[in-house]
Amino acid sequence: TLLQPSSPAAGDDPLPYQDPSLPTAQRVDDLLGRMTLAEKIGQMTQAERIDVDADPSLITTNALGSVLSGGGSVPTPNTPAAWADMVDRYQQAALATRLGIPLIYGVDSVHGHGNLQGATVFPHNIGLGATRDPKLVEKIGHITAEETRASGPQWAFAPCICVARDDRWGRTYESFGESPALVRSMETVIDGLQGKKGQLDHADRVLASAKHFAGDGLTAYDEAAAGTGAYPIDQGIDKVSRKQFKKLALAPYVPAVKEHRVGSVMPSFSSVDWTDDGLGNPVKMHANKQLITGWLKNQQHFKGFVISDWRAIRQLPGDYRAQVKASVLAGVDMFMEPIQAPNNPSGWDEFIPTLTDLVGDGEVPVSRIDDAVARILKAKFDLGLFEHPLTDRTHIGDIGSKAHRAVARQAVAESQVLLRNKQRTLPLKPKNKVYVAGSNADNIGNQTAGWTLTWQGGSTNVVPGRTILDGIEKAAKGDVTYSEKATARIPRKAVGVVVVGETPYAEGFGDVGGPQWAYDPGDAGVPRQKQTMEISTADKQAIRTVCARTTSCTVLVVSGRPLIVPPGLLRQIDALVASWLPGSEGGGVADVLYGRSPFVGKLPVTWPRTIAQEPINVGDKKYDPLYSYGFGLSTR
Ligand code: BGC
Repeated sequence: TLLQPSSPAAGDDPLPYQDPSLPTAQRVDDLLGRMTLAEKIGQMTQAERIDVDADPSLITTNALGSVLSGGGSVPTPNTPAAWADMVDRYQQAALATRLGIPLIYGVDSVHGHGNLQGATVFPHNIGLGATRDPKLVEKIGHITAEETRASGPQWAFAPCICVARDDRWGRTYESFGESPALVRSMETVIDGLQGKKGQLDHADRVLASAKHFAGDGLTAYDEAAAGTGAYPIDQGIDKVSRKQFKKLALAPYVPAVKEHRVGSVMPSFSSVDWTDDGLGNPVKMHANKQLITGWLKNQQHFKGFVISDWRAIRQLPGDYRAQVKASVLAGVDMFMEPIQAPNNPSGWDEFIPTLTDLVGDGEVPVSRIDDAVARILKAKFDLGLFEHPLTDRTHIGDIGSKAHRAVARQAVAESQVLLRNKQRTLPLKPKNKVYVAGSNADNIGNQTAGWTLTWQGGSTNVVPGRTILDGIEKAAKGDVTYSEKATARIPRKAVGVVVVGETPYAEGFGDVGGPQWAYDPGDAGVPRQKQTMEISTADKQAIRTVCARTTSCTVLVVSGRPLIVPPGLLRQIDALVASWLPGSEGGGVADVLYGRSPFVGKLPVTWPRTIAQEPINVGDKKYDPLYSYGFGLSTR
């Protein structure tokens, strides 16, 4: 067997790596020196919870370094205690290994700990970008960290520091916006997640992961792929100059590494067309040595570790051996290689022997393995996992607390962007009668969107919180009538509020038919709506009906990106608001509608007139959007 049988921790005196009084670098060196190749490769391996849940001893026998919850991979019941019990159960299995190296557990806490039922669900990043409020975003990072760590995971696959340049991209809402300066200013979220230097071992902090390195938001729309079932834009190719790439893709990583000391970085599924493999093919980021090792690690002195994205190395050219070799040599340190049979019949169980062979055959030097493992161990020491491997549940009672929700509600209010306000339609007067309609007025699943309970999210996903309608009903003093399709009678002299927008999606194009839909239909039998940046026919109808028969009408767009508002429709609308994806605290929308908080949000992306204008960004030579980047009326 590759693992040695005797435990080195048997004696009374702690070994150097077990001694918290020693400097971390010394502990890492000591531990690394005791490890077998199998133990090292185990540290570089990340399994999915589904792969180990039935038999956590797999963690012990394979000396696995990490486990993740992929989007929507949750314990039953989906409660904080069940999460913490689950992570602790896996942790016990890791501690049972010869050297007792603790596990690190990762989860997509991308807008709060959205997978956990009852967590505070914040607006998606696009809405946070609209707030232009770095202090608030730091607070959100902190609350997210607290709710995540109290329920077990010590690592968040967040933030996405992508610069989203084409709103057709299905991950636009995971971006803080189209401007690299805006994205940089929002990286305070990393401080919130990780705390100040030396605070990672606190019970309310997690390791962050800046993603997706680099240029995930710059991929060119591929006309040929559209409609074929392949992603026409997600995971594609950046067709930009080196100069543009530096400015739009790499720039956000400079402060992320230097000022915010982000603990991990996740490469992108995409590639950039000026790095080629010698055969004229752009090199996928997961094999991009020039950028991962050359730029990130050597030039920027990134001291954290690089975690591959979900089975992403399998998109590299060649057979699996070639894929593993290319990515390890490029500088990837840990490998997200879930099995998830029968969809994915092999994963980390194939990764481990493949990398072992590569090292045995001298194709991957042991020095590269040691570098990867040292980086991973450093993170585990910094997190205090060797001293406190099990979940510190001190803050478990604060998950989804009133205080946390109040911060989310403030973020919702600050994220609202007032685009049009004819004759001071807004703020509304509480005593007026109000008639509420539209697909997204009373749907918390649509409000929280992707990466909430399930990967794709779902219109039928219900989490505790308030819908926008709930907020209006609380704030209004006069009668409130609600009719989704505006079929109920509209009372005389009522004011209209029509809440339109998208249904949930994640990654891809946000378009039905892509490969992700077959994998995660996830919406309780409700057919998914095709997403094309158009307002649905039903919502347009609701706008026309309500706007024709009310004293004044306000349209709120609940979406992950700008939706197209045709001129004829716009003329009928008195006030127009971009509400983004507000999360669980839709009451914040009512706060600005009724003037309890002013409108302060500014557009984080350019709002186009037509889809044909995509990609459209501030600074373009011909720039004729419906609303410019940075636009937002104020009622302050
Ligand atoms: C996404 C990542 C995410 C990972 C784990 C991938 O599909 O691209 O952003 O962190 O899944 O769920």
